[in-house]
Amino acid sequence: MLAKRLAVNPLTPGNPAHALFDLFVAAQTCKEVQLKFAELCRHLEVDSQDYRNFYNKLKERLNYWKAKDLWQKIDSRANHSDYEQGKPCAKTKCLVLGAGPCGLRVAIELALLGAQVVLLEKRTSFSRNNVLHLWPYTIRDLRNLGAKKFYGKFCCGSLDHISIRQLQLILLKLALLLGVEVHTGVSFKGLVEPQASGAAGWKALLHPESHPAAAYQFDVFISAGGGRFVPDGFKRKELRGKLAIGITANFVNRHTAAEAQVPEISGVARIYNQKFFQELHTEKGIDLENIVYYKDDTHYFVMTAKKNSLLKKGVIKQDFSDADQLLAPANVNQEALLQYARDAAQFSTGGKLPDMEFALNHAGQQDVAMFDFTCMHRAENASLVRERRGKKLLIGLVGDCLVEPFWPLGTGIARGFLAAFDTAWMVRNWGKGMPHLQVLSERESVYQLLSQTTPENTSKNYNAYSIDPSTRYPNVNVSSIKPKQVGAETWEEKKK
Ligand code: FAD
Repeated sequence: MLAKRLAVNPLTPGNPAHALFDLFVAAQTCKEVQLKFAELCRHLEVDSQDYRNFYNKLKERLNYWKAKDLWQKIDSRANHSDYEQGKPCAKTKCLVLGAGPCGLRVAIELALLGAQVVLLEKRTSFSRNNVLHLWPYTIRDLRNLGAKKFYGKFCCGSLDHISIRQLQLILLKLALLLGVEVHTGVSFKGLVEPQASGAAGWKALLHPESHPAAAYQFDVFISAGGGRFVPDGFKRKELRGKLAIGITANFVNRHTAAEAQVPEISGVARIYNQKFFQELHTEKGIDLENIVYYKDDTHYFVMTAKKNSLLKKGVIKQDFSDADQLLAPANVNQEALLQYARDAAQFSTGGKLPDMEFALNHAGQQDVAMFDFTCMHRAENASLVRERRGKKLLIGLVGDCLVEPFWPLGTGIARGFLAAFDTAWMVRNWGKGMPHLQVLSERESVYQLLSQTTPENTSKNYNAYSIDPSTRYPNVNVSSIKPKQVGAETWEEKKK
């Protein structure tokens, strides 16, 4: 029946499969992506839960030049020898927590290794307008995966940034095409231990409790739940600097010629442009350490503001030494904050942005936020094995829940993706049957390098980047930590 339907007119623009593929590629919300994907699968009669064969069947049945362009990109990644045609993890079942950029990126790699991958996300929409600066290797990585097919404007010319929302949309589409099962609107609440020897494996406690993914059994759990979500068993270190208050503001981009002409500010720090900051202070009473302006779906500004000027301008009502108290919603005058952000944005763009209407955030409110980044967290270790009733579970951390980034350095996505690749390599070792203490010791050896990585000290041969750490970190020593050193951190079954 399928063949008949497609044979009607396979190459005309009116071909419904082609139209559905185009709609999927162009979808601009998380919901729409899922909907169009489901329609495409239904139309082509491919079962998205048949993760082993899904991508190949889709390829076979969608004989469309636009799709072929994308398959070419995906295939050139998938054919890399590291993935051994999906054999290493053919029996591995992974649960990934979080559809942020890092959760999605690791899910893609695990799917390429042949694993069954289920990904859970508590939100139902991708609404973060904030724009991320990308390191050159991440741009190359995303380009090689076909990012431009989904988002034509992706890093055009010298642009090196993208909104979180767009990045998530690109990665979600890729993950779905590779057979990752994505569930949105479901919260992970904890792990459920195997109940009896020889019986079912590890499961997850979810909200809603009756969600079908609660029945899924897995042997690998990857947490990419963002800065606040760290699973039991992991310790975190706190890195505290001097008080740093960040403000983000997003304005509607109507994409007019006048807006297009306003130059971006890719990072003006106080030390490099004393005059600008002094004039801003004198004319507007706004005292900043730095400011960045990027143009994307929105006009996005991010700045670090000095506490005294926020107090003087009435943005912060009362002074407290404790940052949580200082920035508590009850201590912030929202109207004054909007004015502060608008004035800073207007001044730094020379008043050239014609119409500064705030974009709306996920809650439908004007998209301005003030946050404290005085203190950042870093997990002491990146991996763990838990064992209960003879069932081992490998746990890995990825993204902000592994290392919280210092945003002015733009390290979030770059280090997040490096950790995603390192974690995929760890799961590959696990799938290939490497003894678990060695899996952990190799992962921890590589993790030692992450916080020092910069665009300068990582390999410049971006096209050679793969999940193998040696392609990215020059002189990496995967046995700098020995299996006996991770033994103590392994959460083994307590014998009764
Ligand atoms: P997140 O993006 O936080 O995603 C985590 C996901 O997990 C979320 O979708 C969340 O809903 C979901 N989740 C959490 N708990 C649960 C649960 N229990 N159940 C189900 N789902 C759950 N980085 C850069 O690289 N460059 C920049 O220029 C840059 N600028 C920044 C500017 C600002 C102001 C800020 C705040 C950050 C900036 N970052 C930047 C950092 C960047 O945003 C993060 O590093 C990146 O978003 C981390 O991705 P992630 O996938 O680890 O986590």
